[in-house]
This record gives sequence, C-alpha cells and structure tokens, in this order.
Amino acid sequence: MSLLKIVTWPNPILDIPADPVTKFDDDLKKLVNNMFETMYSAPGVGLAAVQVGVLKRLFVMDCSGGKDPAQRVVMINPEVVGIEGKQDGDEGCLSFPGIYFNVERNLRAIVRAHDINGKEFELDGTELTARCMLHETDHCDGIVFLDKMTPLKREIVKRRIKKLQKAGEWPS
Ligand SMILES: [Zn+2]
Repeated sequence: MSLLKIVTWPNPILDIPADPVTKFDDDLKKLVNNMFETMYSAPGVGLAAVQVGVLKRLFVMDCSGGKDPAQRVVMINPEVVGIEGKQDGDEGCLSFPGIYFNVERNLRAIVRAHDINGKEFELDGTELTARCMLHETDHCDGIVFLDKMTPLKREIVKRRIKKLQKAGEWPS
C-alpha cells in the first residue's frame, strides 16, 4: 500500500464530475486500499477518488476513524436514493485542510452503491454518516462543500484561504 497525494482546492479536477466505475478488478482494489490508507493517515473520515486525482465515482469512508471495522466502507458509483430532515454542523474536507465551516445537510440519507466486487447495496445513515455520504457523493459529482454554503459563508472561507495562500500556508 502507498499514500496518495491529496488534491487541494482550487485544483480544477475537484469541479469535474467523475466517470462511473465499470471494471471491478485488481487495479480498483489497489486504489481503494491506498485510498483507505491515505484517509486514515490524513486523518479524515471520508475520501473520494477525485481527491487523489482519479476521476472515478467512488469514495471510502469510516466515521469511527478506524476504531470500528464495521464502519469501514467503500461506496462505488454512489447514488443518493433517499433523504430526510436537516442537520446543521461544522464540516471539514481533506481538500480544504484546516477549514471547518457550517454546512446544512440532510439528517438522514440512503445511498445505493456497488461494493468492491460490484455487488449492489444500500447504506441508510443519519448524522455524521449521512453528512459524510452526502459530502463524498458530491465530490463524485464535481461539487465541493464550498458550493453548499450560503454566498456569505463562501466568501468568508475564500478570504481565509486567500490569506493562507499569501502566507504560503496552503498546500497546492
Ligand atoms: Zn471533501
């Protein structure tokens, strides 16, 4: 396994909708294993393939941060099939290191996806699990959490990043 380089905003690859996965082969397994290692090492609770420069529709997620093996999940070709309620809370993103900002999300989400062998399954999650699945599925569609903020909050975050860029404290 090896660590992958995480792409940071405003790299234009983050704005491109990813292509569906059609081959469930050893290359895919290798990519997924490397993505898990990269996510745990960052550390983060979710990582989409576009964030490591691979334009494929998939993400890895572990809302327990490696503590509960049952929460280690890969969702390939994810599709949100149900949403319910609202939640408010701070959200982070490995492509925006150190930035945590309030984003409104659905409280519950049901996402349909393929597993590593190509078998279809659904994950029904609330709170952090729902937030994470929605955030990562957005990445597969070329959407970053900045796009989900109100225009005012977006400006505040952009200004903060500009400052960090000027200070040489923002990775490119
Ligand atoms: Zn993200």
